[in-house]
Amino acid sequence: MSKEPVVPQNDVMESLVSLCKRRGFIFQGSEIYGGLAGTWDYAPLGLALKNNIKNIWWKRFVDNRDDMYGVDAAILMNQRTWEASGHVGGFADPLVECKKCQHRFRADQLSSDDGKAASAVASAKKCPDCGGALGEVRQFNMMFKTHVGAAEDASAVSYLRPETAQGMFVNFKNVLDIFHPTLPFGMAQIGKAFRNEIAPRDFLFRAREFEQMEIEYFVKPPKDAKDMEWSKVFDSFREQVHGFIADVGLTASKVHELEVPDGERAHYSKRTIDFEFDFPFGKKELYGLAYRTDFDLKQHAEFSKVDISYYDEETKERFVPHCIEPSFGLDRTVLAVLADAYTEDTMGSDAAGAEKEKRVFLKLSPSVAPYKVAVFPLLKNKPVLVAKAREVFATLKAEFARAGIQGVAFDDNGNIGKRYRRQDEVGTPFCVTVDFDTIEKSAGVTVRDRDSGKQERVAEGELVGYLLGKVK
Ligand code: ATP
Repeated sequence: MSKEPVVPQNDVMESLVSLCKRRGFIFQGSEIYGGLAGTWDYAPLGLALKNNIKNIWWKRFVDNRDDMYGVDAAILMNQRTWEASGHVGGFADPLVECKKCQHRFRADQLSSDDGKAASAVASAKKCPDCGGALGEVRQFNMMFKTHVGAAEDASAVSYLRPETAQGMFVNFKNVLDIFHPTLPFGMAQIGKAFRNEIAPRDFLFRAREFEQMEIEYFVKPPKDAKDMEWSKVFDSFREQVHGFIADVGLTASKVHELEVPDGERAHYSKRTIDFEFDFPFGKKELYGLAYRTDFDLKQHAEFSKVDISYYDEETKERFVPHCIEPSFGLDRTVLAVLADAYTEDTMGSDAAGAEKEKRVFLKLSPSVAPYKVAVFPLLKNKPVLVAKAREVFATLKAEFARAGIQGVAFDDNGNIGKRYRRQDEVGTPFCVTVDFDTIEKSAGVTVRDRDSGKQERVAEGELVGYLLGKVK
């Protein structure tokens, strides 16, 4: 097998989007009606990949710890939530419209990082679509507004949540009263968030409906300005973020930390690190880690008039805890994992006896791959091979399920060469083939490795242990 030069990065996205559609990972939202910008539908394989990522996250940050409380809060929340959090007043992006073609753009995305204010940059620039003059920059609130119930007056206004975080802050008191946790402890949630992005783009990267995986981790407030106890928790989450990145198989050298400087952080944050990833379209934010202080709990206490404080049994003090927030975009993780895994090479006449041919494959980590193993009969029209392959498939499926692993597939579509290519394209790490030697000589099955294309024979009795050892 020979490695070809790396695929030009701007071609990767086009190939990836097409692979995702062709192989049943991700479809355009509402496709038969011409789509709906900024929405994507997960198809069976994309859903399996996404669920694997979610499960890895939940296991690392909730199940494997004893200081985390999971919640699944409603997407629609009382409008006061968003007044308290600052989103009604300030969750806006600078919008600029072309006077000629009326296309709209995010003013800050028209800039060339030269440090100019968005308004100055936008008014100096021409419309990227038609060259027309751009109008004034105005602030555009990105929350999706709706009305709850039959009335459409101001009191019925609600919003689709733009972040999952607030669903945790408003339940802080409930968790405190019912579970009596002692500080430090955290709340965790995975769920949908909605932002009416001015310019959704780059496939799953900037969507209008997406999922977040967030943690609000509560610590004692600092005693004074020099007390940096919170930074130990901050640093431990920093490590944990890298741990999760390794769990899902992302290339560590493509992840970069960016210390967000004063003046560029969100209004609630005293310190923020962005974890950026080398996407095919550039280095962009994948995750964020922020020290939100006591901003949110204090705001909710003030707006709701409910006492949201913590009583410390040890020191006999009552105070509002501070909060560290690691925030992960689930869809951005799916995109990063897919883009990182996308590989092209050439492969020789291994199994199919075919000439050297260009091959596209997803080098997915077994931890996230939709299928870990695919089982084939060498020939589809030989009942004896099909029956044996079905038997091997049933055993593997049952044994994998016992080990808590899903993703064993049966495939007899097309010739064996085509099946290998198809499984390569969806990132299946191992293919098991039942051939005549399996039956006539009790010679076991062949196991083919996705990345090297190499095959080895494995005795039937050793197959489960062999494969579990490789995918666990
Ligand atoms: P950006 O600057 O890229 O708009 P952000 O700083 O506004 O992102 P946060 O508010 O910190 O993002 O949201 C936390 C995480 O949610 C992000 O790190 C990202 O992974 C994810 N996320 C935010 N906006 C989107 C979006 N429009 N589509 C997909 N994922 C998103």
